Amino acid sequence: MDAAEFRRRGKEMVDYVADYLENIEKRQVYPDVEPGYLRSLIPEEAPLEAESYEDVVKDIERVIMPGAASPACTELETVMLDWLGKMLKLPEDFLAGTEGSGGGVIQGTASEATLIALLAARSKIVKLIQTDHPDRSETDIISKLVAYSSDQAHSSVERAGLIGGVRMKKIPTDSKFSVRGAALQKVLEEDRAAGLIPFFFCATLGTTPSCAFDCITELGPICNAEKIWMHIDAAYAGSAFICPEFRPLLNGIEFADSFNFNPHKWLLVNFDCSAMWVKKRSDIIGAFKIEPLYLKHDHQESGNQSHWQIPLGRRFRSLKMWFVFRMYGLKGLQAYIRKHVGLAKEFESLVKADQRFEISADVVLGLVCFRLKGSNELNEILLKRINSARKIHLVPCQLAGKFVLRFAVCARTTESRHVREAWSHISHLASELLQELRH
Ligand SMILES: *Cc1c(COP(=O)(O)O)cnc(C)c1O
Repeated sequence: MDAAEFRRRGKEMVDYVADYLENIEKRQVYPDVEPGYLRSLIPEEAPLEAESYEDVVKDIERVIMPGAASPACTELETVMLDWLGKMLKLPEDFLAGTEGSGGGVIQGTASEATLIALLAARSKIVKLIQTDHPDRSETDIISKLVAYSSDQAHSSVERAGLIGGVRMKKIPTDSKFSVRGAALQKVLEEDRAAGLIPFFFCATLGTTPSCAFDCITELGPICNAEKIWMHIDAAYAGSAFICPEFRPLLNGIEFADSFNFNPHKWLLVNFDCSAMWVKKRSDIIGAFKIEPLYLKHDHQESGNQSHWQIPLGRRFRSLKMWFVFRMYGLKGLQAYIRKHVGLAKEFESLVKADQRFEISADVVLGLVCFRLKGSNELNEILLKRINSARKIHLVPCQLAGKFVLRFAVCARTTESRHVREAWSHISHLASELLQELRH
């Protein structure tokens, strides 16, 4: 949709809302739809090809309005998470379908998804231990719990441990910044020997510093055997798994208990929209469900996503997904991901062609980690000059003790010419800097 069409559609939407408000007294107050009404009104999968805006908007009256307010909001969300789960080829266990025991929910952020997974895992392990040892108190058990993540994990994982009141340990990564099975196994043995109770492992697919991938095909079986909840944080990288060529990065998902990524990061859905799936809805609901009288109604068994999250109230965020998936089609979304990866590869080859620079980590998706061959101080000065010139903005990271610059392709409108301009700017500033140092 270009700017001219956006203006026109935006104005039409204001009219639609105004008409709705003007005629609101003609509408029924309480919907008379039955639970599950929505699923049969729309396809089971996202379209391959893009659809028109008119087609999508027409469906608002047909699909959404009969279930105005809560039923439509909950049901569209469940079906959209199934659509997206199918795009990612998630194992069947994670889909809600009509009788599955898994399913998806929209959280605000990846940070919340990790926290919720950790709290659900905490509640599950406490119940499990108390089944065998009814005399052990919850406080005693929680004081022995340990959660784990990669030493490259996002700060939100450490924070989840902090809020959840449990120990959190970082597992060292290998030369590719990836957690391997043996590294986790070693720490688990030490901790069990010390009387601790390992219960949660947060794997990262696409780490923030370098877009590295923990080896979940090795880690998953260990977690399953040790009754450790495996959560996967793929906040950024998850969007790429809709492309068959990137889907192997998600192999091992079958061992996970929960999985999360942010369509608002790289799948063209506006903030906020963080998609989270669990294999067993009952694990999450079991941890969070409280039902006062004012929330009781006739269709309680049909699902209430308020039990999957911290707040009670929920926004109608699945509408954004519905519009985006239909207006791009799966093919359009795949093309968007591929374009960004192609642009990152283009930047990588520009860096590689310049002997003064080196690439610091494998370029898998839209992130390029690079640096000038030389000291950390040299690279810190270069970054300072790049950012103070205000033309582009780079965020650094530390990889194996080295100060590294990160070039991330993330805007919807980025083209090859922007990448080439950015590189010539960086290369020019580097030349100036190296020149000065020679004098
Ligand atoms: C961006 C990111 C996060 C944080 O995401 P929020 O949705 O802002 O909480 C967490 N983990 C990874 C790997 C990320 O890339």
